[in-house]
Amino acid sequence: MGSHNIVMLAGDGIGPEVMSEVKKVISWLESNGDISFTIHEDHLGGSAIDAYGVPLTDETLEQCRASDAIIMGSVGGPKWDNVDYNIRPEAGLLKLRKELDLFANLRPALVFDALVDASSLKPEIVKGLDILIVRELTGGVYFGEPRGIEDLGNGERRGFNTQTYTTSEIRRIGVAAFELARKRGGRVTSCEKANVMESGKLWREEMTKLHGEGFDDVELSHMYADNCAMQLLRNPKQFDVIVTDNLFGDILSDEAAMLTGSLGMLPSASLGAPGVPGLYEPVHGSAPDIAGQGKANPLATILSFAMALRYSLDRGDLADRIETAVQDVLSSGTRTADIMAEGCKEISTSAMGDALIAVLDSKLAEAA
Ligand code: NAD
Repeated sequence: MGSHNIVMLAGDGIGPEVMSEVKKVISWLESNGDISFTIHEDHLGGSAIDAYGVPLTDETLEQCRASDAIIMGSVGGPKWDNVDYNIRPEAGLLKLRKELDLFANLRPALVFDALVDASSLKPEIVKGLDILIVRELTGGVYFGEPRGIEDLGNGERRGFNTQTYTTSEIRRIGVAAFELARKRGGRVTSCEKANVMESGKLWREEMTKLHGEGFDDVELSHMYADNCAMQLLRNPKQFDVIVTDNLFGDILSDEAAMLTGSLGMLPSASLGAPGVPGLYEPVHGSAPDIAGQGKANPLATILSFAMALRYSLDRGDLADRIETAVQDVLSSGTRTADIMAEGCKEISTSAMGDALIAVLDSKLAEAA
């Protein structure tokens, strides 16, 4: 049994609290599953600024590069609002993503049965929802050159950015989406604005070409991104995997996230080329308003760890066990404050971790 090399970056605010609950799950797996981990804990973001003077040190980056997967809590908070822009907490996270060239951001939008009422949409629209948004993360208009703000004289200024995609950038995110769809419902919807943008036209052409080169077992459809935004609210269950660029993915993944009702439940993964460790983190931030109070929901981070088991450690079986246990904990009516509902019992961050472990224990006992 090989040991998986994990770098754990708890970060700031509620990060350390939710990461403590991930550690409970890791210990449980080591005691009860055929898996072992070597954990390297380090600082990122504000905590790294405090410890080392920068939000990501070269040593931490090298530890990450040499790992099998990186699990992160969250970075940032008011304490570091006035640090130099180049060494702000978020700069550490951006540098980590850039250095590892993590070009594929995976954001599942999964509605657990017990939380169906937390969505702002009608239960029948979201019940059973399970979609995966695959967003291109390192290209497009957020990085394209030229960019800037120029003075045109006469009090007039011009702000500009460049939306740009190359064949290889489109193909590698396309491959990721098709391969992920094969492990799920077998359907990919590719979104762009080919009707008004050349980069979108190229995106559509390259996706179609790639599909014909070995992915025709997956169903491919194309949709304009604005229509996708509407369809996500009208009939979100029509989707399996949505693949899209950096800008549209930013917006569509946040929209899809809200279908599920709670930030505290949303995991994510950022993946690079084969052999590069994935970065797994909850979608939420460091929640300074509740940090240190035992109120944070640890499930988004625990579900992010489950994604690491599935996508980086090839242990989808253990990811399934954790996800089923989360479903059961929620069904039992124990909730952290963010997902509290009438008739349920409010519990703390650490009690939620314990409740999950209790479910894992009882499932193991049932199976024995
Ligand atoms: P946030 O996600 O931290 O919080 C938004 C709201 O959701 C808050 O009311 C918070 O209490 C609540 N919330 C978030 N996670 C929760 C959880 N697990 N359980 C219960 N409630 C939860 O967003 P924000 O307030 O805009 O940002 C706070 C800080 O986090 C900022 O410094 C921001 O830059 C940073 N941030 C970091 C990341 C990241 O690390 N990837 C992402 C977003 C924001």
